[in-house]
Amino acid sequence: MGTFRAVVIDKTEAGQQVAIRDFDDADLMDGNVTVRVTHSTVNYKDGLAITGKAPVVRRFPMIPGVDFAGIVERSSHAEFKAGDAVVLNGWGVGETHLGAYAERARVKGDWLIPLPTGIDAAQAMAIGTAGYTAMLCLMALQRHGLTPDRGPAIVTGAAGGVGSVAVALLSGAGWHVIASTGRPQEADYLKSLGAAEILARDQLEGAARPLGKERWAAGIDTVGSTTLANVLSMTRYGGAVAACGLAGGMDLPSSVAPFILRGVALLGVDSVMAPKALRVEAWARLARELDFGKLAAMTTTIPLDQVLDAARDIVAGKVRGRLVVQVA
Ligand code: NDP
Repeated sequence: MGTFRAVVIDKTEAGQQVAIRDFDDADLMDGNVTVRVTHSTVNYKDGLAITGKAPVVRRFPMIPGVDFAGIVERSSHAEFKAGDAVVLNGWGVGETHLGAYAERARVKGDWLIPLPTGIDAAQAMAIGTAGYTAMLCLMALQRHGLTPDRGPAIVTGAAGGVGSVAVALLSGAGWHVIASTGRPQEADYLKSLGAAEILARDQLEGAARPLGKERWAAGIDTVGSTTLANVLSMTRYGGAVAACGLAGGMDLPSSVAPFILRGVALLGVDSVMAPKALRVEAWARLARELDFGKLAAMTTTIPLDQVLDAARDIVAGKVRGRLVVQVA
């Protein structure tokens, strides 16, 4: 099968090196489906992997990239055949299994889902892991029984990838959305996605009081740390916050007060190992419910050779919305 172009992270005694180079098909890892990758994306985790800022990569050499859309080239998996359009998110791809920033990937067929009806590969990756995670958060809030009549919903890290899709989804589902951002210059952007109010990031950054003024019934938090602690302390009686991110830190300096005095629930959301049925439901809902005009407005497309710069930018909090990587 020869070689193909890939972003490759190597580790030597001098540390981690990242380059775009030819990669030999024979060095791909085991898997029963080989995919011609057409599109990938840049997620925060990809930024951490490429910059080495956190130990995301646990095997070297590694091709980073946690999500892709593409066309099956070869398959011995019962569900997929050559020519099928597929999507992959997570499962350790780009962390422990060679990943998406490459013209070819070989993975377990069980990790793939068919490209959802009604969207193309570029749109699927404009959604990407960030958008699919935003939908998992909305589904978690809804499973908890929350509806827009219970009060506003807050989104933290709102101008980022998960945040932008979360704002669009919540607003599309009828919520009054409060978008928290550290980038006041993105207020008009966030309003165009459906935010009703903008809350400055620093309003949620100090040490959290056990209980604050009750301001929202629901939340999607991509930031963690003191931000999540403050969001919890200001969540209305019986409300819930879906926590999926750590852009502000992995700690959670909170108290039990919101949980035991207001019955607030903290709903953990993981996209990486989420079971297939949940993925299929999330993707089907995204294809039906997301406003694709808003999705286009939040998306920038870059070629594979700009991934390294984009990785540095996303870790620095400089990326707005979603970055699609056009691989082929
Ligand atoms: P982005 O970088 O696109 O978005 C993160 C946003 O958080 C930034 O745009 C910024 O928003 C805000 N932010 C960044 N740094 C800080 C900081 N130091 N303090 C406070 N806010 C900050 O990343 P993604 O949308 O791809 O991912 C968001 C988070 O969700 C990440 O932590 C990621 O690891 C996590 N994630 C988790 C998943 C899971 O399965 N649980 C899946 C996907 C993502 P603004 O400028 O508006 O303030």
